[in-house]
Amino acid sequence: MSYDPNNIFAKIIRGEIPCNKVFEDDHVLAFHDISPQTPTHILVLPKGAYVSFADFSQQASPEEIAAFVRAVGRIAAEAGLVEPGYRILANHGVHAHQEVPHFHLHLFGGKDLGRMIKPPEK
Ligand code: 5GP
Repeated sequence: MSYDPNNIFAKIIRGEIPCNKVFEDDHVLAFHDISPQTPTHILVLPKGAYVSFADFSQQASPEEIAAFVRAVGRIAAEAGLVEPGYRILANHGVHAHQEVPHFHLHLFGGKDLGRMIKPPEK
């Protein structure tokens, strides 16, 4: 899948659409999810044009990957989530219902998050 520069997160990174910003540096932007699923629900994005984790993990530079991983840990700590705990999640592709084709991690916290995967609905 090629990168669509008009996806919603690309527009947020370019400042064309506002966001409730949590963190920004040269390589990373983080902001609150517009439709939070937990008391704390932060999206963490590399600024580079990567469609998904598959793309980011293969194409990003070591500097971008290091900056991203460090930022996720720092954002979780600054949100006060280290002690009570948190979950990080990335959706890739159709089976994971990825909606926005710009790689991002979800950082969930602020309550007991239950088990990892929701059981299938009967
Ligand atoms: P995905 O399914 O791609 O992993 O998740 C995309 C996430 O982006 C969803 O949780 C959705 O609520 C969030 N989202 C979609 N559009 C916007 C937006 O314009 N602003 C913000 N802050 N979050 C958005």
